[in-house]
Amino acid sequence: MEETEPRVTISFYRYFTISDPAMFRDDLYKKLYELKVFGRIYVAQEGINAQVSVPESNFTLLQDCLDGTGGLAGLRLNVAVDDDGKSFWVLKIKVREKIVADGITDERFDVNKKGQYLDALEMNELCKDPDTIILDMRNHYEYEVGHFDGAVEIPSDTFREQLPMAVDMMKEHKDKNIIMYCTGGIRCEKASAYMLHHGFEKVRHLEGGIINYAKQIKELGIESRFIGKNFVFDNRLGERITGEIIAHCHQCGEPCDMHTNCKNDGCHLLFIQCEKCAGEYNGCCSRECSDTYLLPEEQQKELRKGIDKGQHIFNKAKSRLRPRKKDIQERLAKK
Ligand SMILES: [Zn+2]
Ligand SMILES: [Zn+2]
Repeated sequence: MEETEPRVTISFYRYFTISDPAMFRDDLYKKLYELKVFGRIYVAQEGINAQVSVPESNFTLLQDCLDGTGGLAGLRLNVAVDDDGKSFWVLKIKVREKIVADGITDERFDVNKKGQYLDALEMNELCKDPDTIILDMRNHYEYEVGHFDGAVEIPSDTFREQLPMAVDMMKEHKDKNIIMYCTGGIRCEKASAYMLHHGFEKVRHLEGGIINYAKQIKELGIESRFIGKNFVFDNRLGERITGEIIAHCHQCGEPCDMHTNCKNDGCHLLFIQCEKCAGEYNGCCSRECSDTYLLPEEQQKELRKGIDKGQHIFNKAKSRLRPRKKDIQERLAKK
């Protein structure tokens, strides 16, 4: 917090085989620590996924460092727009089973046999084609505040459920161009490989996701077909891409796309709340939570009975708000 130098928030990922993830992790940690990099990185046998911040003056050094690390040469670094650099406070690198949990058990599945990449221009062109279906591979609360015009959401909160669901929802549309996208590209890259694995042929995905798309449309000065806000997983909870506010306050229904976590430590629900309701409910999701929140801390603890949900920052227990798969399919059929 005392640091005066501005930081740049960057995300990157790559699918490639890492034979010894633990060793790779230790080596990378030492290098990044030297460069004062903060953030969260996952390393697995299938690759790496990173969201980090770096002091501006170390940006080029970081690029060189990654280029000099086995398997990471020539990475596309997504630099976040609309960013104050205050996204992370420590560096964590963890070894995981997968960089994106997918629940895939079929050993023949190869994440490297993926769909064709699309850049912003190609994306805009193909979006205009009536034979195109755009699939949003993110969660409902992300879709809710911003998405590509006409995009269809796959209504589940876990990627492992979304994969077979996408195959099922698209089975009547095998002849269509299918474009998949997500925040930074990591999900849709795997999802596109999964669709191809299931016999779909015209599968494409947005290279570098919404983050890269937003950067490209700015640079090229072209129209954005993504409307609203791009939800991101850090303290900022979203970056604005266009001025439209497409979501509504979950309490009063007024146009609003500000996510917040319920202030009651026993709840922490992630929801959309306007300023007026934030005042009225003390930043809580309901009257009950607000009443609890106003109790003395000791009494609140008593109520929580030792169950601290403080870590569940992205509590999505009330994801009942998302639409049903059946309704989406019906809409698609009419298209
Ligand atoms: Zn409201
Ligand atoms: Zn609550």
